[in-house]
This record gives sequence, structure tokens and C-alpha cells, in this order.
Amino acid sequence: MIGHNYFYHTDLATRNEEKQNSRRRSNFAFHFLKNPASALFCVLILTFTIFAQNVPTPKSVLGFQPTDDRTIADWSQITNYFARLDAKSDKVTVKEIGRSTLGKPLIVAFISSADNIKNLEKLRQINAKLANPATVKDAGELETLIKQGKTVVSISCSIHSNEIVASQMSMNFAYELASATDEGTKEILDNTILLLIPSPNPDGIDIVAEWYRKTLNTKAEGTVPPELYHHYAGHDDNRDWFMMNLKETQAVTRLFWQEWYPEIVYDVHQQGQNSSRFIIPPFFDPANPRVSPVLLREVGLIGYKMAADLQSKNIAGVATNSTYDTWWHGGFRSAPYYHNSIGILSEAASANLMSPVTITEEDLRRNRGVRGLANLFETATNYPDAWRGGVWRPADIANIEMIASRGLLEMAAKFRPRYLRNFYELGKANLTRKESEPQAFIVTAGQPRADTVSRFLEILMWQGIEVHQMTEEGYFAMDARQRGDYHEMPLGSFLIFVNQPQKNNILSLFEKQVYPNRLLANGEAEVPYDVAGWTLPLQMGIEAEAVWATRDLSGFRTTLKKVENINQARAVLNLAPAAQPFAKLPNPLRTNPRVGLYKSYASSMDEGWTRFVLDTFQIPFTSVSDKDVRENNLNYDAIILPADSENTIVKGLSMDRYPTEFAGGITEQGVENLKKYVEAGGKLICFDDSCEMLIKRFELPLKNVLSGLKRSEFYNPGSVVRIDIDKKNALAKGLPGASGAYFSNSSAYEVADESRVRTVAQYAVKDSLLSGWTLGEKYMNGKTALAETDLGKGKIILFAFRPQHRGQSWGTFPFIFNALEK
Ligand SMILES: [Zn+2]
Repeated sequence: MIGHNYFYHTDLATRNEEKQNSRRRSNFAFHFLKNPASALFCVLILTFTIFAQNVPTPKSVLGFQPTDDRTIADWSQITNYFARLDAKSDKVTVKEIGRSTLGKPLIVAFISSADNIKNLEKLRQINAKLANPATVKDAGELETLIKQGKTVVSISCSIHSNEIVASQMSMNFAYELASATDEGTKEILDNTILLLIPSPNPDGIDIVAEWYRKTLNTKAEGTVPPELYHHYAGHDDNRDWFMMNLKETQAVTRLFWQEWYPEIVYDVHQQGQNSSRFIIPPFFDPANPRVSPVLLREVGLIGYKMAADLQSKNIAGVATNSTYDTWWHGGFRSAPYYHNSIGILSEAASANLMSPVTITEEDLRRNRGVRGLANLFETATNYPDAWRGGVWRPADIANIEMIASRGLLEMAAKFRPRYLRNFYELGKANLTRKESEPQAFIVTAGQPRADTVSRFLEILMWQGIEVHQMTEEGYFAMDARQRGDYHEMPLGSFLIFVNQPQKNNILSLFEKQVYPNRLLANGEAEVPYDVAGWTLPLQMGIEAEAVWATRDLSGFRTTLKKVENINQARAVLNLAPAAQPFAKLPNPLRTNPRVGLYKSYASSMDEGWTRFVLDTFQIPFTSVSDKDVRENNLNYDAIILPADSENTIVKGLSMDRYPTEFAGGITEQGVENLKKYVEAGGKLICFDDSCEMLIKRFELPLKNVLSGLKRSEFYNPGSVVRIDIDKKNALAKGLPGASGAYFSNSSAYEVADESRVRTVAQYAVKDSLLSGWTLGEKYMNGKTALAETDLGKGKIILFAFRPQHRGQSWGTFPFIFNALEK
């Protein structure tokens, strides 16, 4: 259940004891059998030697050296290697922290000195106290904690499974730490606890390994698999770190922010082939004002240590201050900023999965350049040693990642007290209120969608945010802070105080994001790394207001009770208890339509997230393949076309690289079949890009007014916008008159023939931006956001926005449900 459940630590302690006992037994046995007369001293020496010799090399277990050309270890081989390390090394203990979406074990390897491994639970408790400064009673205790504590570091590999090398490298890195006897390694192991995650997406490791093996020595060798490498999220598995949609996010978040509180989190990625060889911090602009300046500096410091280490080993092509920014929340390395931790990202240039590639100087010159790195041949402060092309192997990637990881651990060891103190101080400062910040946020009682409120609170609590419930009605001053606008808040409301150690997380999830208007010299919008806005209550359609002051403060606290677990909150919301965390929801449909969901081999994340929403709400559906569309197997009441370009849907994957069964898209015949399906009475529901294909091919009387606009005229990279809803339309059942909707480089329609097209929702006529960034808002204001049109006996429903964006926009899910009804 939710909350601070440490059951596995008992398990861990027991297992460590067993491990030590069994070692003791075998050593004594060895001693008595072979050396009956030797002194204790000799036993110790012998024991040490045996251990050193017994730490198995990856090659001895796998039969090949990981990261060698055209080798790949799948998840069972990786977990098997770590299990062998656990069994043979007293510096390594491996824990299963949960199961993946497809049921594979998620593991973390704790690597530290033998003494630290014996005392893991005690060291965990020390770190947990530093993370929660209110539990530290005085300066004396703080100094003791800093003296005894270790820097907790997590290194996580290959969350993006095509960026496969780090998962393979993790075995070599673990072996090196467990077997090396030099002073530097000893210093690292004595002062740090490494939580090494070989991959937080085991399902994807197997999807890639299986595809790679199957296509080795064919034209498809080294290509991306023709399916999402996370069952639901694909690449977006690294966009979920405040939302908790995925089992993997839930398990790692529990490990990090309910249990271990790492001071440093390093997320190891790969980028494209034809750019710099490696990108590390400091990052590019903009910096999010909710990220502490202390953290930004510490992030830069570690990045520069890595860069200097790499340069001293003559590694060319390393870039800092490029491409990646610290604006966006929700990534593996960005979520830690909101928990007072240092988040590091590295991006190594890719090979073709595990096959080497040759990059020519021409390839590099063709590269259009990225933010902060316009020319790959020009010497610059952030790119002092240009790489000029050559053969690029998986082992090159692994080598760079090992040097960087080692450099990071050296910092964590040498500056251990500094990291622990900073971590504590940041949390402590967050317990004090600033003038400019509200006192709390209130989630008011009596909202129409209790299930959504419950999920929202569960998301907050899972990240370690405290939630209180009101046990009596009370008076609060609401948003209008200067006006003394006091009104009574009803019993059953929830209150989230801002002054918690992770204050910035609370503010960042509740506040509106105001992305800076960043333009290039030519007047075009500078493209941010990810989205510009994400405010959760706006996305989820939840009423949450800032509380600036409370009246009658003396009696106030007595009306509040801390919510200990989600079922306590559910009871307040009159919901049945949930059997497990993040439980599925009841099917909201009144009818029983046959639902088809188009699934392209070009692996669309929008399709994955749609599938996630249908599964979460237990709505039965069938995936519809290219072949089904081509061969007219379309016996459905409703078919959903997730957002994808016309080219991707019609032409699909390239015949030149992919086996025939995966290539070729729905073809022109498929487009014709879809049209006949609607004309005969079927319903097509399209999202964003895919609507454009239908508008064009079926000559629907709508036009996307944003298509063709220059980036100097209009740009919105991912924001919450306001839509006004026609409540009389059946598609709007259960929705309010206005709502937030997620817009991500999306569409806005002008209706040419109102007798044929019904507008169900439109972007607000004025000020449609709620959170994020829109350049040239006038182009979308007042335009159609959701439309319905007839074609023959059937119907087409066109969403200009993303009603299920990353599984976050719960506020607009009901549109999808209504659209599916018979
Ligand atoms: Zn990546």
C-alpha cells in the first residue's frame, strides 16, 4: 500500500546475514580442509584472496564481453549477472523493487564497501532524516548524521531501450567497482552508496534484444524495433516522473523518494549519431525558477568534473551547455531537482544499437546544429576538442559512460559532507515560508469527479508529499490575497501545505508555468527540449486553489488530520477502498461499443497512451493493424486514429530496411477502406495530426489554420490551454462549461460549412493560454478544438488537441469516453 512501507529492508537485513553466515561457513570449511594448521591471520588473507578471485567477470557469466560489437545481453542475462555478483561479492547486494508493466523484475544493485552493505538499513535511515529536516532535533544531531552518512548516488541506464549500451555497460561498471582494490575505488566505496539500476525499463531491453538478434545479418540489423519499447509509453517512459502512470515510475519513485533519497541521480542516455559524442551539464537555458540555484551550480560542477576527466583521457567531442535545459519537470534527472537532489543527464552519440557505425566528416557537416552547438568543427569553450568522424562502436560509448560515472562517484566520495549538508539545508530552507508563496493549496470537497481527485492525491502522496484532510468546516482566505476574501471551505476538503521539504515540487505541480518568450535572432521561437507547461490540477480538471492566509489560526490546526494512505482519502471522497496502489478504474461507458484502436508499426506513443487510458478504465478494445485496414477487417462501432502524420499512417515503415510484414503502412487502399467504413455507418475518432489526413483525403469542410504558419508567427510546444465547451452536445456529457486541454504543437480548425460540422469545443476567444507558452496566441483563439461531422451514414469526431496527453490530461478523458458510446 501507499505510505512508508519498508518491508523489504527487514528482508534485506536477513538476507545479508544469511549471506555472511554462509560465507563464514564456507571459509571455515575451506580452512579446515586445506589448511588445518594455519593461523587466523592466514585465514583472513586467504579469505580476501578468495573473494577477490570469486567476483565473476561479466564474460565468465555471459560468455562474451558486454559492449563488444554485435553482442547483446537480454534482461535475464543481466539480472543473472547481478545475482551472481550479489552471491559472490560482499560489496554488492541486489534487490527487486517491483515488477515492470509486463511483469519482469525491476532490480537495483546496491554497491558500497562491505561495511556499508552490512549497515545499509542504518545508513538509509540517516539519509531519510537528512531528507526530512524536521526530524533532526539539533545541530549536534545534524553533525553526527553528516559524519556517519554516505552520499547516496543512483546511476540508471537505458530507460530508453534503443539507447541500449548503458544497460550492457552497467555489468562492466559493477564488476569494476566490486573487484578493484585501488585507493580511489576504496574511497568511493567507503563514502558512497551506489544504487545502480541496470535499466528501469526491463521490458524494453528484451524488446530490443529480441529484435536485434532476429535482425542480425539482415538489412534490418541495428534498426529500431517496430513496436514501442515501453508497452504503453515508448520514449515517453521518461516523461512520467511526476505522474506515476507506469509501474516502473512507481517502483523507482518509492525507492528514491519514500526510502533512499539519493543526493545525486545520474540518468545515462544516448542521442543521435551525427552530433557531439557526449553531452553533459551544465545544461542550456532556460532554467526553471523553481530549481534551486544551489542545485544548478552543483549540477554544473559534476558536469565539468566529468568533462575534465574525459578530456584528460583524450576523449574528443564532449559538449557542455547544449541542447538540454532544466525547464521541464517529469524526467528521470529533472524530478530530483524538486526533491533537493542533483540530477545529471548524459547523452552519448549512438551506434546502430550494438552494431558499429562509420561517421564521416560530411555526416557531421550535414548536421543542422543544436542549441549551444552550431558548428561541430569550431573550437568553443563548451566544445573545446572537436571530433572529426570515424568508426563509432558501442565500446566507445561504454568507455565514455564509465569515465563519466567514475568521475561522478569520485565527486560524491570526496565531497561527501558537502552533498549531505546541502541536501539537508535545501530541505530545511523549504520549511520556511516566503512572502511570495501561498501557505497551502486546497483541493475542495464536493468536486464532481471523485476518482480523479483520488488519483491526484495518490500521485502527490506517492512522491512523498504530505496531504491533510479537513475534519471540520473552516475559514480560509482564498486566491485574492490582498482582498481578505475569506470564505468557508467545506468538510472533506484536502489541504497541501507548501512548506514541506519538497516545496518546489508542490509549487511546480500546482502553479501555472510561465515559459520565457525565447526567440532566435531570426524572430522564430527557440524550441525548448520538452513541453513548456504541465500544471496538474489544470490537466486533470481538478479544482485546487492557493490559500494565502487562514483566519482563526489558533483553532485551525485542530481541524486538520494528516492523510496516512490513499484509502483514508478515498473514504473521505465516498469511494470504495482500493485493493492496490494506482488501481484501475471502473469502465465509464454506458453502452458496449466494439472499439478498434489503430496501431502502427511505426510505434506511436500517442497510440500507447490511448491504450493506457483504455486499459486504466477497463474499456475493451482491439488493436487494428495496417494489414487489418488494408484488408478491410473493420468490424467496429468506433475506430480511434491516434495522432500521427499522414505519411506515417499511409506509407508506414520503409520497405528498404524493414521486413515486409512490418513495412508499408495502411496504403491508399486502407484510406479508401476507412472512408467506406464511415460511409457505411462507422465512427472514426481522430486525434490531432491524424485528423489532417482525414480532412484532406475525405474533403471535410474544416481547415487547420495553424498549418503552414512560421515559427515566428505561431508556436506552442506543449501547454495547457483553455477550451469553452458546448454543454448541449452529447460529447460534452459530464464536462464543465470550460476546461483545460493539452496542446502540443497541435491544431486549431476553422469550419468552412457549419451546416455540416458541429463545434463541440473551441479554444477560448481571448487568453487561451493557461500554463506554458504560446507565441502568436491570436491564431488559435476562438478556433474549433473539437468537432463532429457526418459522412454518409457515419460520423467523424476530430480532436484538434491531445485529449489523453501522456496519460496526464484526465480533464479531457471524458470526451474520449463520450465519443466511444454507441
Ligand atoms: Zn534517451
